[in-house]
Amino acid sequence: MDKLTPQQRHKNMAAIRSKDTKPEMIVRRGLWKRGFRYRLNHKRLPGHPDLVLRKYRTCIFVNGCFWHGHQVQFIMQNSQCIIESSECCKIPKTNREFWVNKIRRNKERDSEEQRKLAEMGWHCITVWECELKPSKREETLDSIAFTLNHIWLQDHHAKIVQYPSMDEDDIQMSMAAEEDGEYRT
Ligand SMILES: [Zn+2]
Repeated sequence: MDKLTPQQRHKNMAAIRSKDTKPEMIVRRGLWKRGFRYRLNHKRLPGHPDLVLRKYRTCIFVNGCFWHGHQVQFIMQNSQCIIESSECCKIPKTNREFWVNKIRRNKERDSEEQRKLAEMGWHCITVWECELKPSKREETLDSIAFTLNHIWLQDHHAKIVQYPSMDEDDIQMSMAAEEDGEYRT
């Protein structure tokens, strides 16, 4: 049984959540150092992404492995949801049902928000807390930078292919019109 009152539990969870801000700082500093500029906690976008890079049309979420259920497996068994803990997200044994539901809801919300963002034309990158451990940090930040540059090139390549060919047509048409004497007064 859960021995905490809802208020106590809320307080506990808020305290744990605010400690989770550190991984976000690592991502911010790392990207800033690599020349990327961003906005923070964009309130008007679904899910309030931690970092928003408008130029790259990309939202970055820095997720705590426990709260967002990194690598957990959900298995439906006799219409009951069983969760399998992962290395990153170990579901507490006490009050297990509460945590299973909590983490499942968080994961559902995450994917729903990212689906909405994708519909609005945003790319989403999720960075996991475990990928920011000192031994992995630089590699993770380099790979985010690589992904952002790749996104930028892809988006702009599409435009380069489309627009100049239209411009060329316009120029040719107006040249042809001039030759026909249409522009003479
Ligand atoms: Zn993890």
